[in-house]
Amino acid sequence: MSKEEVLRHILRGMQTMHVGIVGAGPAGLTAADALVQKGHTVTVFEQDARYVGGISRTVEYKGYRFDIGGHRFFSKNPDIEEYWTEVLQDDFLVRPRLSRIFYGGKFFDYPLKAGNAFLNMGLGNTMMCLVDYLRSRIAPRKPVLTFEDWVTNQFGARLFRMFFQTYTEKVWGIPCDEISADWAAQRIKGLNLATAVLSAVRPQRSSGSETVIKTLIDRFRYPKLGPGMLWERIAQRVVEAGGTLNMGMKIVRIEKMAAGGYRLQGSGQDASLTVEVDQLISSMPLRSLVRALHPAPPPAVVQSANALRYRDFLTVALMIDQPDLFPDNWIYIHDPSVKVGRIQNFKNWSPDMVPDARTTCLGLEYFCFEGDGLWNAEDATLIALAAREVAAIGLLQGGTVFDGRVVRVPKAYPVYDDGYAHRVATIRNHLADHFPDLQVIGRNGMHRYNNQDHAMLTGLLAARNLDGGRYDLWAVNGDAEYLEELPEERLVPRSLAGA
Ligand SMILES: Cc1cc2nc3c(=O)[nH]c(=O)nc-3n(C[C@H](O)[C@H](O)[C@H](O)COP(=O)(O)OP(=O)(O)OC[C@H]3O[C@@H](n4cnc5c(N)ncnc54)[C@H](O)[C@@H]3O)c2cc1C
Repeated sequence: MSKEEVLRHILRGMQTMHVGIVGAGPAGLTAADALVQKGHTVTVFEQDARYVGGISRTVEYKGYRFDIGGHRFFSKNPDIEEYWTEVLQDDFLVRPRLSRIFYGGKFFDYPLKAGNAFLNMGLGNTMMCLVDYLRSRIAPRKPVLTFEDWVTNQFGARLFRMFFQTYTEKVWGIPCDEISADWAAQRIKGLNLATAVLSAVRPQRSSGSETVIKTLIDRFRYPKLGPGMLWERIAQRVVEAGGTLNMGMKIVRIEKMAAGGYRLQGSGQDASLTVEVDQLISSMPLRSLVRALHPAPPPAVVQSANALRYRDFLTVALMIDQPDLFPDNWIYIHDPSVKVGRIQNFKNWSPDMVPDARTTCLGLEYFCFEGDGLWNAEDATLIALAAREVAAIGLLQGGTVFDGRVVRVPKAYPVYDDGYAHRVATIRNHLADHFPDLQVIGRNGMHRYNNQDHAMLTGLLAARNLDGGRYDLWAVNGDAEYLEELPEERLVPRSLAGA
């Protein structure tokens, strides 16, 4: 790094600047809050006209509150845990976790418990699972390229089919042998049959212990009124500290100005907006970002962006006239006889999620692609389908569905298919070379299948970078532990050729 660059870096740490932030989800709002608290001018653009919080919002309908899939609060990063606690204070509940798997007409405890699994599967099936498991240990699949390879090596082919294949294919809409092994390695790391069986006979250590297996954590924290409560409070903090929040304003064009900074063009239902900023932080999907950039990236970069894929999602909230339907927070529906992938019972997340304790609100989650049959179905058709399926699984307990609400969520999941890593690297290279001060953060912003805490941490570190910090946001790992600053020689953005 040259002397001039060091000086510029130090000066940047002392200046206040006008920062544009695209997206008022966890990543964008965390960055905005950190920057306004340091005295910077912040303008946030959010395409949704009503809700902040992005995928972590809480929807309200006639007093019933529900998430876009229930959101557990858990982080290995102490800064994030502290931040949640500081903002939510007494409204941050500690909730017991209970979840099961519905498969073959039976409910399996999840995490798996040896006795319950044995009773449900029967002796013959259990023995065959064991034989398959031993076979996979003796002769594992090589090389491990796909989700199917990874899970089969850990658990054996039979357990893969029972507990992973149908659910995973519901979630992603593609066969398990087309899903990258990266996804399994990131999401179910640390879990294999031996640890699962061990955990079934040995009590879990409490959270904070390094040996806790991430998919087996048995309690979690949750805001009294859902995650949206956190994001509404943080948005309020940003505005109270002088930040500007433009709701219903979608960023459609990002122009790099010759003199430095960016000209942002927003488009709303009734108005458009042009704002010039010194610095830019983006949590909009990487694909949309590339399409909005000016000067426009070369065709190879645009093609990489266009080829990034997403899985979309819709949730059908059903209001039912029964106080207690089942004790779980959520149930995974592996059974292929129904389309629903997971069922949330929001009252079990927090009793305050329902306005009337004599009733229950369930969230039935359907994974789909924008524009497919499910996505385009009428709301009334989806509510009727959800009511039928919840009854077919045996969870309605004689209750009646008296109301329902459908929420469609585009780009709920960035897809880790075969070519995604190469495409993301191509886009990163271009950004590093041509837009070196544009920071991309968050889940779709970085095309990373990660939770709120990871999204928040990238937002926090992006804000610190504008105050002289030296964090490589791409190095923030899925466990959201990373907080180390880079050594000086890695400060200058470098091409990622070969990454
Ligand atoms: C079903 C499901 C369950 C989940 N469960 C959990 C959980 O239990 N715990 C957990 O911690 N996490 C969970 N997550 C993940 C969590 O929702 C995300 O990690 C988090 O919301 C990502 O935050 P973000 O700010 O990066 O992105 P988002 O939440 O996607 O926010 C991005 C924001 O940018 C806005 N935006 C996009 N494009 C533009 C544009 N061009 N102009 C202006 N605004 C724009 C969007 O409207 C959105 O508000 C779950 C996700 C799903 C789908």
